[in-house]
Amino acid sequence: MKKQSTAAPSVSKGPTGIVGAMRQELAAVLAIMPDERRQSVGGRDFWLGHWHGHEVVAVLSRIGKVAAATTATALIERFGVRRILFTGVAGGIGEGLRVGDMVVASSFVQHDMDASPLFPRHELPLYGRARLDTDAALSAALTEAARAVLASPAQALGADAVTTFALHAPRLHQGLIASGDRFVATAAESAALRQALPDVLAVEMEGAAVAQVCHDYGVPFAALRTISDRADDAAHVDFMRFIDQVASRYSAAVLERYFQKLTD
Ligand code: SAH
Repeated sequence: MKKQSTAAPSVSKGPTGIVGAMRQELAAVLAIMPDERRQSVGGRDFWLGHWHGHEVVAVLSRIGKVAAATTATALIERFGVRRILFTGVAGGIGEGLRVGDMVVASSFVQHDMDASPLFPRHELPLYGRARLDTDAALSAALTEAARAVLASPAQALGADAVTTFALHAPRLHQGLIASGDRFVATAAESAALRQALPDVLAVEMEGAAVAQVCHDYGVPFAALRTISDRADDAAHVDFMRFIDQVASRYSAAVLERYFQKLTD
Protein backbone atom coordinates (compact mmCIF):
# COMPACT_ATOMS: atom_id res chain seq x y z
CA MET A 1 0.00 0.00 0.00
CA LYS A 2 1.19 3.48 -0.76
CA LYS A 3 2.27 5.53 2.21
CA GLN A 4 0.36 8.76 2.60
CA SER A 5 2.29 11.87 3.46
CA THR A 6 0.68 13.75 6.30
CA ALA A 7 3.35 16.43 6.62
CA ALA A 8 1.76 19.87 6.92
CA PRO A 9 3.59 22.73 5.23
CA SER A 10 5.96 24.50 7.60
CA VAL A 11 4.41 27.69 8.90
CA SER A 12 7.18 28.70 11.28
CA LYS A 13 8.64 31.01 8.66
CA GLY A 14 7.39 32.71 5.55
CA PRO A 15 5.59 35.97 4.96
CA THR A 16 2.45 37.31 6.60
CA GLY A 17 -0.52 37.18 4.23
CA ILE A 18 -2.78 40.23 4.27
CA VAL A 19 -6.15 39.78 2.61
CA GLY A 20 -8.31 42.79 1.88
CA ALA A 21 -11.80 42.73 0.50
CA MET A 22 -11.55 46.17 -1.07
CA ARG A 23 -9.28 47.76 -3.62
CA GLN A 24 -8.88 50.95 -1.56
CA GLU A 25 -7.59 48.94 1.35
CA LEU A 26 -4.99 47.19 -0.72
CA ALA A 27 -3.92 50.55 -2.15
CA ALA A 28 -3.29 51.84 1.38
CA VAL A 29 -1.17 48.76 2.16
CA LEU A 30 0.82 48.98 -1.08
CA ALA A 31 1.50 52.67 -0.48
CA ILE A 32 3.31 51.71 2.72
CA MET A 33 5.33 48.77 1.29
CA PRO A 34 8.54 50.28 -0.12
CA ASP A 35 9.55 47.45 -2.46
CA GLU A 36 6.35 45.77 -3.58
CA ARG A 37 6.36 43.55 -6.66
CA ARG A 38 3.45 41.82 -8.30
CA GLN A 39 2.88 38.14 -9.05
CA SER A 40 -0.30 36.80 -10.62
CA VAL A 41 -1.76 33.47 -9.53
CA GLY A 42 -5.28 32.21 -10.20
CA GLY A 43 -6.36 35.47 -11.75
CA ARG A 44 -5.31 37.49 -8.73
CA ASP A 45 -2.48 39.90 -8.14
CA PHE A 46 -0.35 39.10 -5.11
CA TRP A 47 1.94 41.89 -3.92
CA LEU A 48 5.16 40.83 -2.24
CA GLY A 49 7.14 43.26 -0.14
CA HIS A 50 8.06 44.32 3.36
CA TRP A 51 6.36 46.25 6.16
CA HIS A 52 8.60 47.39 9.01
CA GLY A 53 11.09 44.81 7.75
CA HIS A 54 8.59 41.93 7.88
CA GLU A 55 7.86 39.93 4.74
CA VAL A 56 4.32 40.52 3.51
CA VAL A 57 2.11 39.19 0.69
CA ALA A 58 -0.96 41.36 0.16
CA VAL A 59 -3.91 40.38 -2.00
CA LEU A 60 -7.45 41.39 -2.83
CA SER A 61 -9.69 38.36 -2.29
CA ARG A 62 -12.70 39.66 -4.20
CA ILE A 63 -16.11 39.14 -2.66
CA GLY A 64 -17.66 35.92 -1.36
CA LYS A 65 -16.64 32.64 0.26
CA VAL A 66 -15.30 30.83 -2.80
CA ALA A 67 -13.15 33.78 -3.86
CA ALA A 68 -11.83 34.07 -0.31
CA ALA A 69 -11.05 30.34 -0.05
CA THR A 70 -9.16 30.34 -3.36
CA THR A 71 -7.16 33.34 -2.21
CA ALA A 72 -6.28 31.80 1.15
CA THR A 73 -5.25 28.51 -0.49
CA ALA A 74 -2.97 30.29 -2.96
CA LEU A 75 -1.41 32.30 -0.13
CA ILE A 76 -0.59 29.09 1.71
CA GLU A 77 0.36 26.78 -1.18
CA ARG A 78 2.17 29.25 -3.44
CA PHE A 79 3.50 31.86 -1.08
CA GLY A 80 4.07 29.77 2.07
CA VAL A 81 2.53 32.34 4.40
CA ARG A 82 3.02 31.71 8.10
CA ARG A 83 -0.18 33.56 9.11
CA ILE A 84 -3.12 35.31 7.47
CA LEU A 85 -4.73 38.57 8.51
CA PHE A 86 -8.02 39.69 6.98
CA THR A 87 -9.22 43.27 7.07
CA GLY A 88 -12.41 44.68 5.67
CA VAL A 89 -15.87 45.92 6.53
CA ALA A 90 -18.93 44.17 7.92
CA GLY A 91 -22.54 44.79 8.78
CA GLY A 92 -23.27 45.20 12.50
CA ILE A 93 -25.81 42.63 13.71
CA GLY A 94 -25.32 42.49 17.49
CA GLU A 95 -26.90 45.00 19.84
CA GLY A 96 -24.75 48.04 20.37
CA LEU A 97 -22.53 47.65 17.30
CA ARG A 98 -22.41 51.00 15.60
CA VAL A 99 -21.02 52.19 12.29
CA GLY A 100 -17.36 53.02 12.91
CA ASP A 101 -16.86 50.37 15.61
CA MET A 102 -14.37 47.56 14.99
CA VAL A 103 -14.71 43.82 15.53
CA VAL A 104 -11.89 41.35 16.04
CA ALA A 105 -13.28 37.88 15.32
CA SER A 106 -12.85 35.20 17.97
CA SER A 107 -14.71 32.67 15.80
CA PHE A 108 -16.52 32.33 12.48
CA VAL A 109 -19.62 30.54 11.27
CA GLN A 110 -21.12 30.18 7.79
CA HIS A 111 -24.64 31.47 8.30
CA ASP A 112 -25.77 29.99 4.96
CA MET A 113 -24.36 26.50 5.58
CA ASP A 114 -27.31 24.13 5.96
CA ALA A 115 -26.97 20.42 5.20
CA SER A 116 -29.90 19.52 7.44
CA PRO A 117 -31.31 17.01 8.08
CA LEU A 118 -28.01 15.19 7.38
CA PHE A 119 -26.15 17.54 9.71
CA PRO A 120 -27.39 20.18 12.16
CA ARG A 121 -27.92 23.62 10.62
CA HIS A 122 -24.65 25.62 10.31
CA GLU A 123 -22.47 22.55 10.96
CA LEU A 124 -19.61 22.13 8.49
CA PRO A 125 -20.28 18.66 7.07
CA LEU A 126 -17.63 16.16 8.23
CA TYR A 127 -15.93 18.70 10.52
CA GLY A 128 -18.28 17.94 13.43
CA ARG A 129 -18.63 21.62 14.26
CA ALA A 130 -20.22 24.82 13.04
CA ARG A 131 -17.72 27.33 14.37
CA LEU A 132 -14.01 27.75 13.77
CA ASP A 133 -11.91 29.78 16.19
CA THR A 134 -9.35 32.33 15.12
CA ASP A 135 -5.80 32.19 16.49
CA ALA A 136 -5.78 33.59 20.03
CA ALA A 137 -2.29 35.15 20.01
CA LEU A 138 -2.72 36.72 16.59
CA SER A 139 -6.15 38.06 17.52
CA ALA A 140 -4.72 39.52 20.73
CA ALA A 141 -2.04 41.35 18.73
CA LEU A 142 -4.67 42.75 16.34
CA THR A 143 -6.84 43.75 19.29
CA GLU A 144 -3.99 45.66 20.88
CA ALA A 145 -3.30 47.48 17.61
CA ALA A 146 -7.00 48.24 17.03
CA ARG A 147 -7.42 49.58 20.57
CA ALA A 148 -4.51 51.94 20.08
CA VAL A 149 -6.00 53.26 16.81
CA LEU A 150 -9.51 53.65 18.25
CA ALA A 151 -8.14 55.59 21.21
CA SER A 152 -7.66 58.55 18.86
CA PRO A 153 -9.65 58.02 15.64
CA ALA A 154 -8.87 61.53 14.36
CA GLN A 155 -5.20 60.61 14.16
CA ALA A 156 -5.93 57.79 11.70
CA LEU A 157 -8.79 59.45 9.81
CA GLY A 158 -8.44 63.19 10.14
CA ALA A 159 -10.85 65.38 12.08
CA ASP A 160 -13.17 65.87 9.07
CA ALA A 161 -14.02 62.18 8.72
CA VAL A 162 -14.67 61.90 12.45
CA THR A 163 -17.21 64.73 12.19
CA THR A 164 -18.75 63.62 8.87
CA PHE A 165 -19.40 60.08 10.07
CA ALA A 166 -20.07 61.07 13.72
CA LEU A 167 -17.43 58.65 14.97
CA HIS A 168 -17.40 59.69 18.57
CA ALA A 169 -16.08 57.09 20.99
CA PRO A 170 -15.97 54.16 18.53
CA ARG A 171 -15.66 50.84 20.31
CA LEU A 172 -13.84 47.57 19.82
CA HIS A 173 -15.77 44.29 20.06
CA GLN A 174 -14.60 40.68 20.09
CA GLY A 175 -16.71 37.67 19.24
CA LEU A 176 -18.54 35.70 16.58
CA ILE A 177 -18.67 36.87 12.96
CA ALA A 178 -21.00 35.17 10.46
CA SER A 179 -20.12 34.86 6.78
CA GLY A 180 -22.30 33.99 3.81
CA ASP A 181 -22.77 34.66 0.13
CA ARG A 182 -25.31 37.44 0.63
CA PHE A 183 -25.06 41.15 1.21
CA VAL A 184 -27.42 41.45 4.18
CA ALA A 185 -29.39 44.60 3.59
CA THR A 186 -32.79 44.30 5.22
CA ALA A 187 -33.83 44.65 8.84
CA ALA A 188 -35.83 41.39 8.50
CA GLU A 189 -32.78 39.44 7.38
CA SER A 190 -30.54 40.75 10.11
CA ALA A 191 -33.24 39.98 12.70
CA ALA A 192 -33.38 36.41 11.37
CA LEU A 193 -29.61 36.14 11.72
CA ARG A 194 -29.78 37.39 15.31
CA GLN A 195 -32.42 34.80 16.04
CA ALA A 196 -30.49 31.91 14.45
CA LEU A 197 -27.17 32.97 16.00
CA PRO A 198 -27.93 34.97 19.18
CA ASP A 199 -24.28 35.84 19.94
CA VAL A 200 -23.37 37.00 16.42
CA LEU A 201 -21.76 40.44 16.28
CA ALA A 202 -21.33 41.09 12.57
CA VAL A 203 -21.97 39.70 9.11
CA GLU A 204 -19.72 39.68 6.05
CA MET A 205 -18.97 37.48 3.06
CA GLU A 206 -15.45 35.99 3.35
CA GLY A 207 -14.07 35.37 6.84
CA ALA A 208 -15.48 31.90 7.57
CA ALA A 209 -14.08 30.61 4.28
CA VAL A 210 -10.57 31.82 5.11
CA ALA A 211 -10.97 30.39 8.63
CA GLN A 212 -11.80 26.96 7.18
CA VAL A 213 -8.82 26.92 4.81
CA CYS A 214 -6.51 28.05 7.63
CA HIS A 215 -7.98 25.38 9.91
CA ASP A 216 -7.31 22.69 7.28
CA TYR A 217 -3.69 23.79 6.82
CA GLY A 218 -2.93 24.68 10.44
CA VAL A 219 -2.15 28.29 9.57
CA PRO A 220 -2.92 30.96 12.23
CA PHE A 221 -5.67 33.34 11.16
CA ALA A 222 -7.11 36.57 12.57
CA ALA A 223 -9.62 39.06 11.20
CA LEU A 224 -10.51 42.66 11.83
CA ARG A 225 -13.66 44.25 10.45
CA THR A 226 -14.88 47.83 10.65
CA ILE A 227 -18.65 48.13 10.92
CA SER A 228 -19.77 49.91 7.73
CA ASP A 229 -23.52 49.47 8.07
CA ARG A 230 -26.18 47.93 10.28
CA ALA A 231 -27.11 45.24 7.70
CA ASP A 232 -30.55 46.86 7.40
CA ASP A 233 -32.48 48.70 4.74
CA ALA A 234 -29.98 51.58 4.79
CA ALA A 235 -26.94 49.28 4.39
CA HIS A 236 -26.00 50.50 0.93
CA VAL A 237 -26.05 54.22 1.78
CA ASP A 238 -22.65 55.88 1.52
CA PHE A 239 -20.94 52.49 1.64
CA MET A 240 -18.06 53.36 -0.69
CA ARG A 241 -17.46 56.76 0.88
CA PHE A 242 -17.27 55.18 4.31
CA ILE A 243 -14.78 52.57 3.09
CA ASP A 244 -12.66 55.24 1.47
CA GLN A 245 -12.62 57.72 4.31
CA VAL A 246 -12.87 55.47 7.35
CA ALA A 247 -12.47 51.70 6.99
CA SER A 248 -9.42 51.64 4.71
CA ARG A 249 -7.65 54.22 6.89
CA TYR A 250 -8.45 52.29 10.05
CA SER A 251 -7.07 49.10 8.45
CA ALA A 252 -3.85 50.75 7.35
CA ALA A 253 -3.35 52.31 10.79
CA VAL A 254 -4.05 49.04 12.63
CA LEU A 255 -1.73 47.02 10.38
CA GLU A 256 0.95 49.71 10.66
CA ARG A 257 0.88 49.35 14.43
CA TYR A 258 0.70 45.55 14.19
CA PHE A 259 3.87 45.31 12.06
CA GLN A 260 5.65 47.93 14.13
CA LYS A 261 5.19 45.72 17.21
CA LEU A 262 5.73 42.36 15.48
CA THR A 263 8.84 40.54 16.65
CA ASP A 264 8.92 37.33 14.57
N1 SAH B 1 -20.92 47.95 -3.02
C1 SAH B 1 -19.80 47.07 -3.05
C2 SAH B 1 -20.26 45.70 -2.68
C3 SAH B 1 -19.66 45.28 -1.45
S1 SAH B 1 -20.27 43.73 -0.96
C4 SAH B 1 -19.18 47.03 -4.42
O1 SAH B 1 -19.81 47.52 -5.34
O2 SAH B 1 -18.05 46.56 -4.56
C5 SAH B 1 -19.94 43.84 0.68
C6 SAH B 1 -18.55 43.59 1.13
O3 SAH B 1 -18.42 44.14 2.42
C7 SAH B 1 -18.24 42.12 1.27
O4 SAH B 1 -16.88 41.91 0.96
C8 SAH B 1 -18.60 41.82 2.72
O5 SAH B 1 -17.61 41.02 3.34
C9 SAH B 1 -18.66 43.17 3.42
N2 SAH B 1 -19.95 43.57 4.02
C10 SAH B 1 -20.18 44.81 4.55
N3 SAH B 1 -21.44 44.93 4.99
C11 SAH B 1 -22.05 43.74 4.73
C12 SAH B 1 -23.38 43.27 4.93
N4 SAH B 1 -24.32 44.03 5.47
N5 SAH B 1 -23.67 42.00 4.54
C13 SAH B 1 -22.74 41.23 3.96
N6 SAH B 1 -21.45 41.64 3.74
C14 SAH B 1 -21.10 42.87 4.11
